[in-house]
Amino acid sequence: MAERSLTLMAVHAHPDDEATSTGGVLARYAAEGITTVLVTCTDGRCGDGPGGVKPGEPGHDPQAVVAMRRAELAASCEALQVSHLETLDYADSGMMGWATNDAPHAFWNTPVPEAAERLAELIRRYRPDVVVTYDENGFYGHPDHIQAHRITMAAVELAGSPAKVYWTTVPRSAFEEFGRVMKEIGVEFPEPDESADMPALGLPDEEITTWVDTRGYGGQKFESLAAHASQAENIFFLQLGQERFTELMGMETFVRVRDTTGAPTPEDDLFAGLR
Ligand SMILES: [Zn+2]
Repeated sequence: MAERSLTLMAVHAHPDDEATSTGGVLARYAAEGITTVLVTCTDGRCGDGPGGVKPGEPGHDPQAVVAMRRAELAASCEALQVSHLETLDYADSGMMGWATNDAPHAFWNTPVPEAAERLAELIRRYRPDVVVTYDENGFYGHPDHIQAHRITMAAVELAGSPAKVYWTTVPRSAFEEFGRVMKEIGVEFPEPDESADMPALGLPDEEITTWVDTRGYGGQKFESLAAHASQAENIFFLQLGQERFTELMGMETFVRVRDTTGAPTPEDDLFAGLR
């Protein structure tokens, strides 16, 4: 029997989330012969529509947005050489408090055990050694990101733990560097909404367990992001240009929350202890 290759599974909320926080690891590990599985939980219908039309504005047609974003996701997977794309196709729930949160097929409105069982089925099929998702705040509080976190942690329990589970994060030092570069190149930084109840973003550097250098795959990561150029947040990142983007976003960082390998931390490889 042929030896099974190591497998990475990344669980994301929307089409495009794979690019910014895990585009580098998806590209790097695929290049190293590791099987990569991307699970995208929602259809992204609450995103910007063709021509930049915002959800709720006249002319925003959710079905057209879904079709556009599905094609973008396929192009992104091509750029990152993702081995298997799986979509759960829940309706994008929109931002916290939007009426779309309560839509019948909205991801946020789906009981965790129900969605977790579907993800557990994929874990049983692909048997990932490493699973990556968001922290309990979904990094920045988006309901679909929080739900992706919840169903992933539940699915891992149901399906038998992969050897390692990680949450994506950003070191605080990177935010400072990011702000500095933005100022330098005169790119307008979106003002944080002071009224929003936002969790603190990222972690102090010393709490980060895993720093993966993906700068050698910056071209692919940028290409993946460029595939999602219909979304305003991505256009913002694309303004950096590939070189600066890679410099700022080429180190992907994680917190290891489950581990059976005993690999010492800090580590520089999601597969440390497995190969
Ligand atoms: Zn998202």
